[in-house]
Amino acid sequence: MTSPTFETFGFAEPLARALTQVGYTTPTPIQVQALPPQLEGRDLLGLAETGSGKTATFVLPLLQAIAANPVELGWKQVHTLILAPTRELAVQIDLEVASLARNMNIRRAVILGGVSKGPQINALKRGVHVCVATPGRLLDHVNMRSCDLSGVHTLVLDEADRMFDMGFIRDIKKIVSLIPMKRRTALFSATMPPEIRKFAYEILQDPFRVDLSTKTMVVDRIDQKVMVVRSAEKQSRLHTILADPACERVIVFTRTKRGADRVAERLGMAGINSAAFHGNKAQNARQRALNDFMAGHTRVLVATDIAARGIDVNNITHVINFDMPLDPETLRPSRRPHCAQGHQRHRDLVV
Ligand code: AMP
Repeated sequence: MTSPTFETFGFAEPLARALTQVGYTTPTPIQVQALPPQLEGRDLLGLAETGSGKTATFVLPLLQAIAANPVELGWKQVHTLILAPTRELAVQIDLEVASLARNMNIRRAVILGGVSKGPQINALKRGVHVCVATPGRLLDHVNMRSCDLSGVHTLVLDEADRMFDMGFIRDIKKIVSLIPMKRRTALFSATMPPEIRKFAYEILQDPFRVDLSTKTMVVDRIDQKVMVVRSAEKQSRLHTILADPACERVIVFTRTKRGADRVAERLGMAGINSAAFHGNKAQNARQRALNDFMAGHTRVLVATDIAARGIDVNNITHVINFDMPLDPETLRPSRRPHCAQGHQRHRDLVV
């Protein structure tokens, strides 16, 4: 059997052209399964992780809907709303929307905390086709009446489990209550604990289910090691590991924000080029740290797990858990930032 191509989905010309321009020739497995039901207007429940191509899986159908039925945008109205747990993931999703909508004339807004509201109010004013938002800041705008969710046609929740972990459930329920019942909804989650399943079935109508957790696909390409190290020696052991030139692009996870700062500071003192990345940093400092890491200017990113969840960085060579994660799910390397090419090493430094 020949593998499907994007032509089989019948995308509108501007989208089909964008796919060629971005170099997506073959749909990924989740795209093969989850595009057709969404293009037919069905709700979707996707068990999938970063690295599977899931962003395009929800972005393509929503752009196709906009391309097929020209949208009249009312003042401050949002046509399509995408909710994401972290600011960086929201920015990443918006980049994918911008990239795939490059031949379409659409208005977008990214609504996230940690930056000033003024430019966001301006972006929302004339209405937007696609709004990517973190829940708390979006509700601020709703309360300030700078955005109107009563005309949302499509709702996407990305990394739903992470949003629950981060305590956004009340905000999300409030947001969903402001959106018309008659809508299309897609929910993606890397894991499906009972509370997410229950919530998913409350907000989805007869969803098509896709279960493509990338466990096996990703883990096969990862070597894992555990090192048992005394607490006082962990930092120096980290320096020894990083002395290996094979450690080209490394993420070190710490349990706390202070821990991340401390590890990064000591790496700096040892002359190892690193940056800390966590929720106490100002948004522009976080984005700069991430951009420098992605561009290869910083070799080691020291991050709290929650801040870095879902971030898609290519060519990570090593992931190091400086502390033993409390949550066993977090230990699974497939829940780690995506490593698109190359081989990833995964080490845990355990006290
Ligand atoms: P995601 O799981 O959405 O974070 O996507 C992981 C990476 O795969 C991103 O860098 C996407 O740009 C890329 N990607 C998504 N779909 C395709 C495709 N069909 N062909 C090639 N690359 C893709």
